[in-house]
Amino acid sequence: MAQRADLANLSALVSTVEEFDRLMAETLPDLLDHAAGQTRRYLRETGQWADDIGHEKLALRWGYEFVERFLVCVRSEVPCRPLFLLDSLIAKFFSQPNPLCYHKDLCSPLGRFLDGLTSRAVLSRDALMALYYHLYGFGQGHVVQLLGLGPTESQRVYKNFERWRRAGWQRTVTEIGLSEAELRELEIVQTRDPRGLNEEANRLIPMVQDHYRRSEPEYFPCLSRRQWGELFDEGYGYDYRVWHLALCRNCMAEAYAIRLDGSAQTPGLQINLHLRPLLKGKGASFLWMQRGNGHGTERSAQRLSTASR
Ligand SMILES: [Zn+2]
Repeated sequence: MAQRADLANLSALVSTVEEFDRLMAETLPDLLDHAAGQTRRYLRETGQWADDIGHEKLALRWGYEFVERFLVCVRSEVPCRPLFLLDSLIAKFFSQPNPLCYHKDLCSPLGRFLDGLTSRAVLSRDALMALYYHLYGFGQGHVVQLLGLGPTESQRVYKNFERWRRAGWQRTVTEIGLSEAELRELEIVQTRDPRGLNEEANRLIPMVQDHYRRSEPEYFPCLSRRQWGELFDEGYGYDYRVWHLALCRNCMAEAYAIRLDGSAQTPGLQINLHLRPLLKGKGASFLWMQRGNGHGTERSAQRLSTASR
């Protein structure tokens, strides 16, 4: 019954900061409980709940997260009704198209990185272009070649990369809430076992991509290799190419085979995760190193020059 009384206090109007601080000190466990309960309810309602320790931990983790965010922003809102503010913060978070816990595997630093990057790409063209680099290691030149862009769009891609390098990446990482320590930890894992990290990314990427493609009103369906080939040959569907290929690994593999991978002997599209943005002047030799074969390059260059905008 004590908890009920505390929740009632939290719903009442708090008029001064002193009163607020005292109430927070007294009711913190109840706030955490309440926030974890709301998270559990959301997961149940969206069919993402299972009665196991993993989901229980997930709800608690988000409970803490919400209360932390709440405490940061709410003091400046006094006079207020604290519980209403906490509930509205939680509701606002879950009404976004991308609440982080749509899959519990995505709560790892790598999952959060991939999810955050993709969620940003839905809103920002710079981030969308950056996906080609962060997931596959493609530089500007490869993106232009892969997507079959003309001179105007190519210029735009260079600008996208430049802005992303200068500010976009940092802003996105801050938004995701990924700390420098977490990034470094990921880099250590990557240095120790690059293949392992790419494999883990490869496992998580379809979950993330399926989620964001579904949440978009302009959902573009997947195409077969033949259909992608036609689309490139006939030079239409520019937005479709840029958007869908960035957000669909399977179609990327088809487009890669058509546009960049001239020979059947190469292993095809590989995940090649990059955590930080491309440094200026680096990475441009990637394609030539991979191919080591003048014929294929020439053919791709020819395709590029005939590709329409
Ligand atoms: Zn697709």
